[in-house]
Amino acid sequence: MIFKSINPFSRAIIAEHEVLTNAQLNQKLKLSESAFKNWRNASFQERADKMKKLANILRVNKEELGLLITNEMGKILSEGISEVEKSAGNCDFYAENAEKMLKDQQYDTPFRSLSVYDPMGAVFAIMPWNYPFWQVLRYAAPAIMAGNVTLLKHAPNVIGCAKAIESAFLEAGFPEGVFQQITIDITQVESVIASDIVCGVTLTGSEMAGSSVASLAGKHIKKSVMELGGSDAFIVLNDANLEKAATIATQSRMLNAGQACICAKRFIVTEKVADEFAGLLAQKINALQQGNPLKSGINMGPLARLDLAEKLSRQLEKSLQQGAKLVVGGVREDCNFQPTLIDFVDSNNIAFQEEIFGPLATLIRAKDENDAVAIANNHRYGLASAIWTEDRENAYRLARKIEAGNVFINALVRSDSRIPFGGIKKSGYGRELSDIGIKEFMNMKSIIIE
Ligand code: NAP
Repeated sequence: MIFKSINPFSRAIIAEHEVLTNAQLNQKLKLSESAFKNWRNASFQERADKMKKLANILRVNKEELGLLITNEMGKILSEGISEVEKSAGNCDFYAENAEKMLKDQQYDTPFRSLSVYDPMGAVFAIMPWNYPFWQVLRYAAPAIMAGNVTLLKHAPNVIGCAKAIESAFLEAGFPEGVFQQITIDITQVESVIASDIVCGVTLTGSEMAGSSVASLAGKHIKKSVMELGGSDAFIVLNDANLEKAATIATQSRMLNAGQACICAKRFIVTEKVADEFAGLLAQKINALQQGNPLKSGINMGPLARLDLAEKLSRQLEKSLQQGAKLVVGGVREDCNFQPTLIDFVDSNNIAFQEEIFGPLATLIRAKDENDAVAIANNHRYGLASAIWTEDRENAYRLARKIEAGNVFINALVRSDSRIPFGGIKKSGYGRELSDIGIKEFMNMKSIIIE
């Protein structure tokens, strides 16, 4: 079996990658096991030195790696390069902070009692194509700094990125087997989860993939972290700075051609300012240039795969049939989808109910702020929301009512190495990043000394 890597803009086949046989996969699992025996005992200093080298290798090669990302999944080159830089920053952060985050915790008891954090084995990661470097380094840098090893099953269209990341780990001096990419089909996933060396599974992807992999993890009694889809609310209230809100709204929806879990997907605007905000948003979306991701002046490349572009067209068509009004865009050619805005969407519309994974902004009108929060919470997903208002006290009060893993006030929703990230409801469970994320796949062992 072979995975083909197809450039979504030119439609040219860039590379073909052979899927591992079960025997080859077993060899990789054995290598993980032997690597873990040593790596778990490596000092934080040794791990940090290598992690810093990795960060440096990523930075030195950012143009080449950014180009690889663009060729494999279509994002504009500057976004590919920024992604590599952000990934390098994440490696530095965990090199510098992992030891502090994993220090023993003492308890107030009449006898001595403490918790220590032990690594547990190989973290099995199943990752998507939309941020092919960031999603990987986001989980791998903390996991490896903590003394675990890892196996990566990347999405079939970004196997070139997976191989480049593995090469960078080896070049940085990590022993073989600490980071391994495995080119496998989903039929081979259960055997990896079942393997004794695998201590848990982290998946970033769709709700369907999450449900299937979480069931397998449960069956084999393995810890799991699920970072799944979202349909994030971007609430704009009467007193918001509308110009700034519309600028960030455009960025938040159209970044990566709209293909991010944390893209703002439902713009919920109070009636009093809805027309003005819609006008500003339409103007900004209309100004975006979609096209060749390697050309300067282009703001957005194609969608990553033809089937994804076709799905988005179907969702748009149905949404318009259900009463939404097309304001800007709406045209598609192959993987190229024009930046689009639809207005007057209600909670029965497909564009409200389903995750829209592409450059299609959806405007929903709310009576007032309480109605806006109710509309935001009336959803199966709960990943990251935004609230725009000049009244920060009120924004904090409303943020406490929002059903999501993250709420940003007057800011672009993003993930940050220092802050826990994750969702609730069908957006998944568990957290990545920060001192919370690094502990997800650790044995928190309590020791009591009398
Ligand atoms: P996807 O189809 O679920 O694929 C993600 C990964 O899961 C791929 O490696 C895929 O491999 C694998 N996979 C799919 N079905 C599987 C199954 N039944 N068993 C085992 N592995 C399976 O998602 P996508 O379309 O690539 O990515 C978009 C989705 O990811 C969106 O819903 C988005 O919101 C979500 N996402 C979430 C976050 C977050 O942090 N919460 C971040 C980014 C993306 P194959 O391709 O080989 O099937």
